[in-house]
Amino acid sequence: MPRCHGRDYLYGVDRAGFDALLWSRLEAHPGVDARAGVRVRALLRDDAGRVVGVEAIDEGGAREHRGRCVIGADGRFSLVARKAGARVLEDVPLTSTAYQAEWSGVAPALPDGEGGAQVVASGRGRNLLLFPAAPGRHFVVVHARSDRVDIGGDAQAYYDAQLASSEVVRRRLAGAERCGPLVGVKRIANRYVEHAGDGWLLVGDAVHCKDPADGQGIYDALIEAKRLAPLLVEHLAGARSWASLSDAYGRALREETEAMFRTTCKRLKDDLYSEPPALVIKTLIRWMMTDPEYTRRFLSYLSRVIPPDGWMTPGLVARVVARGIARDVRGLLRGRSSTWP
Ligand SMILES: Cc1cc2nc3c(=O)[nH]c(=O)nc-3n(C[C@H](O)[C@H](O)[C@H](O)COP(=O)(O)OP(=O)(O)OC[C@H]3O[C@@H](n4cnc5c(N)ncnc54)[C@H](O)[C@@H]3O)c2cc1C
Repeated sequence: MPRCHGRDYLYGVDRAGFDALLWSRLEAHPGVDARAGVRVRALLRDDAGRVVGVEAIDEGGAREHRGRCVIGADGRFSLVARKAGARVLEDVPLTSTAYQAEWSGVAPALPDGEGGAQVVASGRGRNLLLFPAAPGRHFVVVHARSDRVDIGGDAQAYYDAQLASSEVVRRRLAGAERCGPLVGVKRIANRYVEHAGDGWLLVGDAVHCKDPADGQGIYDALIEAKRLAPLLVEHLAGARSWASLSDAYGRALREETEAMFRTTCKRLKDDLYSEPPALVIKTLIRWMMTDPEYTRRFLSYLSRVIPPDGWMTPGLVARVVARGIARDVRGLLRGRSSTWP
């Protein structure tokens, strides 16, 4: 990784550890009453229809919890969004399906490298991704356009067959062992829904979710909550009306997420829904995916060092092509094939 925000590495977050950390941090806030094992099943409304709380089930049975507003941070299938009647504002019809598991003992991508992140792109609607997770482990992901995924009732067999179809992946997994469950998420939506209504607000995937290709979901969920918090404090202190809170939060939400969302959707279309001719895959796409400047700019927008829109300029493409041709000519002169493994 090029150095971004003081770090020069990337890895997949250990989600259970990360969630436990978020949960334990709540203790630092005396005003927070944290309750685990609670499932919200309905919204409570006053006579005017304003949301004033939730009905939830815990081990003691059903209980009502009332508050000055309800914030749905309950993920992409948000019950709060559904019960509140949040309208879908945008739903991009292209979706992907992902199957992933954690592995240990994955061989390095390059002979002298550490584990290393690697994308094995088919150019035919399916990519295989290997990237470092917790120490010594890797996530190995099958990421495909949804309309081409047919698991035939056996997700494990589908996953194994996809991995086995790539010589590169077979080599990296030869001495490896799967050390976590196989997890699948079908038809991952790219969507915005209404962010607020009378007495309710949404954050995270509940309000805006997108393809995992760019790994932005956790950042987005956190930045949305961070932008909402001071607005909510002002509202609760009586210094901002609900309408003003809703407007300001809606603007902040788009400001933080929209450019990346458009770029991710374009990448989903280009990477999984386009089928370039084999010649283009073996030339232009190979040159791009192995070009240091292209890689640096790609990783810089993913880590938000440069804006996501316009990260790939015509000048960059021209330089990639020039370097790619030069590399292939040098390789041919030395008698090496120009094709990529
Ligand atoms: C295959 C895949 C790979 C991904 N990889 C990455 C990645 O590498 N990097 C990244 O940043 N993002 C990634 N994401 C996206 C990321 O997981 C989400 O964007 C992020 O988790 C959203 O956080 P959230 O808190 O809004 O929702 P969630 O993490 O979904 O959390 C919602 C919580 O609400 C709880 N809940 C739901 N309903 C109820 C209810 N009725 N009552 C009580 N609790 C409820 C759930 O149990 C859950 O704990 C990936 C997504 C997918 C599908």
